[in-house]
Amino acid sequence: TKFSDLALDPRVLKAVAEAGYESPTPIQEQAIPHALEGRDVLGIAQTGTGKTASFTLPMITLLGKGRARARMPRSLVLAPTRELAAQVAENFEIYAKYTKLTKALLIGGVAFGEQDKLIDRGVDVLIATPGRLLDHFERGKLLLQGVQIMVVDEADRMLDMGFIPDIERIFSLTPFTRQTFFYSATMAPEIERITNTFLSAAVKIEV
Ligand code: AMP
Repeated sequence: TKFSDLALDPRVLKAVAEAGYESPTPIQEQAIPHALEGRDVLGIAQTGTGKTASFTLPMITLLGKGRARARMPRSLVLAPTRELAAQVAENFEIYAKYTKLTKALLIGGVAFGEQDKLIDRGVDVLIATPGRLLDHFERGKLLLQGVQIMVVDEADRMLDMGFIPDIERIFSLTPFTRQTFFYSATMAPEIERITNTFLSAAVKIEV
């Protein structure tokens, strides 16, 4: 398979070619077609497999040309740590460079001011750690009913860090009709329970 065989937005294909990627990795090859069809995806994959692009490339394509409204992000990526959230944000910047999609990175340890400004302006993609996202929500600064796509990255680390109740809360604040991409390196019983509750007819991909 080549990237150009996947039904990705031409602007995404251009950015991927420029990044020097020659062909999709197995998780990309398997996840992207289902993601583009609107299916929920459950990815069992470790770091280093190309999992970030496997959800970011279809997400950018699906968000397309729509525009974000103030305080209502159109998609949400949750990562367990500030470092991982920042990495996802860097990847998004690279892959979305030829689109007009906007993002905000919401992580702890920095002032709320700048993050508030971005959210107020309206962003297509919010990339966040769970605690910080809920902080913004509790402060009444953020509306989650416009979320069309939600990604949970490294759910097994979320579990280790005690974030599962936060993840469940965030799931329940987003529309039932959202599309969900859920990634974990392992399937602990607690993770299995969450996926059974919040994913809908998900395609399971193990690499
Ligand atoms: P990840 O598993 O998402 O952390 O990605 C691991 C690394 O692989 C990152 O540095 C990506 O830039 C790189 N990468 C992702 N997809 C591809 C690809 N199809 N070809 C070459 N490198 C890739």
